[in-house]
Order: sequence, then C-alpha cells, then structure tokens
Amino acid sequence: MSATPGTPLAAGCAQAPTSAHDVALLDLDGVVYVGPDAVPGVPEALAAARTAGMRLGFVTNNAARTPQEVAGHLTELGVPADAADVITSSQAAATVVAQRWGSGARVLPVGGPGVAAALRAAGLTVVDRAEDSPVAVVQGYGREVGWAQLAEAVVAVRAGARHVATNTDATIPSPRGPLPGNGAMVGVVATVTGREPLVTGKPDPAMHAECVRRTGARTPLVVGDRLDTDIEGARRAGAASLLVLTGVTGPAVLLAADPGCRPDLLAHDCAGLLTPHPAVVADGDRWRCGTWWARSRHGGLVLGSDAPQQPTTADGRPAAGRPDDGHVDDGLDGLRALCVAHWAAHPGEAVAPAVEADGEPARQALRRWDLAGDARP
Ligand SMILES: [Mg+2]
Repeated sequence: MSATPGTPLAAGCAQAPTSAHDVALLDLDGVVYVGPDAVPGVPEALAAARTAGMRLGFVTNNAARTPQEVAGHLTELGVPADAADVITSSQAAATVVAQRWGSGARVLPVGGPGVAAALRAAGLTVVDRAEDSPVAVVQGYGREVGWAQLAEAVVAVRAGARHVATNTDATIPSPRGPLPGNGAMVGVVATVTGREPLVTGKPDPAMHAECVRRTGARTPLVVGDRLDTDIEGARRAGAASLLVLTGVTGPAVLLAADPGCRPDLLAHDCAGLLTPHPAVVADGDRWRCGTWWARSRHGGLVLGSDAPQQPTTADGRPAAGRPDDGHVDDGLDGLRALCVAHWAAHPGEAVAPAVEADGEPARQALRRWDLAGDARP
C-alpha cells in the first residue's frame, strides 16, 4: 500500500488546537449540549480553551431561535456567550438573500421567530402573504410551522419567489429519537411546487462564509458531531475540522464516511481542543497510532496493539498513569489507525468495512466501539 498524502486524520495536530487555530466554530446540538443539558465537561473545556486564547463561535443550523435566545441558553449552561458569538443558518440565509436581491427586498419567512428576526437584521422587508410579492421564501425550522405557513410558501414560490432553505437536516435529535427537522418541512414545499430549494446552511459554503465574516477567523477549526453537515461543510470550505463523538456519529458511521465527510481530527468531546492529536503513520502494510496498528485486508480491517493492555475507564480512556513518552492514548488511537488504514485504501469511495481483532486489547476496543461484528475466536 502506498502512503496517501492528505488522508484525513493522518497528520494529527502536533500542538493543541487552541494553539494551532484562532477560532473554534462549534456546532451546538451534540457538541455543546444534547437537548436541554450541557455535554458533561464541555463548559469547563470551553472555558479552558478561551483561557488559552482561542475565540469561540457558536454555529447552528437550527434557525428557530434568535441569537439572543441561543446565547442565553449557552450562558445558563455555563458557557458564557453574547448574541454576537452566535451564528445561525437564518443569518446565512438572510445574507445570501440580501446579496442577491438587495437590502430592502421583500421576503416571506417560514419558521420560528429566529427566521424573521434574521431577515429584519439584514435589512430585508418581512412580509406574511404571497400577495405581497416576496422575491424569496426563507424557510427554517420552527415548531409552530403548520399547514397555513406551508401553503403560503407554496403559493409564493409558484408565483415566482425563490425558495431558500436555511438547512435540509431531515431530522432533529430528541430524547425520544429523531423528530421531523427542517429538511422534512422543506420537502413538503419542494414536493408541491416541484422546485429545488436554494440551501444556505451547513454544509453549504455560505454558512461557513458567514461564520468567517462574523468572527474574522483566519485559521478556524470547525467542531461538529455530524459528518454530512459540520464536517462536509468544513471540507467544502477548505477549513480544518474536528469530529466529536458526543452526538449522532459513532465509530462505525465514521469508518464508512464519504470521502468528502472525513474529519481532520477526532476526539471524545470538546476537551480535544486542549491536547495535541497524534499522527497516524505508515509502517509497511500497517498504519500506526501510538501503540495501536491497523491494516486493510481483503477489503476489511484488522486492528492490533503492541502494548500490554492498560486499565481503562468505561469509554476507553486510560484509568491512571502516564507513559514516559508523554503521549497519552485518549482511548481513540486504535480508531484513528483504523480510519486512516481504511481511508487510505478507499480514498474515493465510502465502504463499510468488516473489522477483525488481533489480540484481546483489540477485541475489547472493538466491543467498546460497537465494531465487534467479526472478531476472531
Ligand atoms: Mg450537531
């Protein structure tokens, strides 16, 4: 196997991301909070990142709430934030509409209060009826969206208004499992009108451009939990990305990621901003990360470890002790090796691999990551 320069995750980050990047552009749901509650440890990690000099931008495809409401929620959770620190997909949509049709253009909002507020803040004229001849319908998530708003949008789009979607996430996470997201509601209007919407939220580069415009970031790091919005959006914009495992993406989904959705860095949670990230290096037909190795074989993968098994916590972090070389496996080095081995073998296509363990530490690691389907006896 030849080394594939630029295989995502392979380079790692020799410094803590707080030193290598000026701004972290943080997704919210699944990264900072899950539902109403903060992800444990994340407020402390973000406070430490700020102390280290990193600025934080909070980026959400959820267009329903205003930046003031989002900032208030974050502050309550122990992550102090101003409205100016929050970038919503409604704001990205409003910027795009104002650029295309000019400040003052008439726009029909569909969604929560955050949608109309963002349009007004961008100098656009908000109307509530198709008969007011809007140039665009901007549709974002809102729990109050019902038949009447959707019907108004359909009439306006059929009369010539451009249908603009703040995002097309089909679902939103909830304690009761996935519920209808904005993409599902946008689909209603698109199905009835037969017209494809213009999408401005993640992963569209318009959203990243809005973040950079607002934060003045020079070397941003996008932090997210979703491959097809956060990470793909970063890749399409040419920005570095960090995937955290506190949201919707687990190891099996990560391994099978589309080439355009593979992150540069991987961490359990936002504490990954505070520590260096190990490189994954080629060694014959193996890829090594710390004491772990992985290799591609017959389309599948084999994982092994050269180190005696260390005591670990439930999520695989070292229970105690610090090796002499200063590198501490955060419990994900084996997964990094698997990803690079697999992606180097499949640089242009998404493939869900079967993974085998070579030895007991690898068997335990694969069980922890729910990858244990094919462990050898
Ligand atoms: Mg998320």
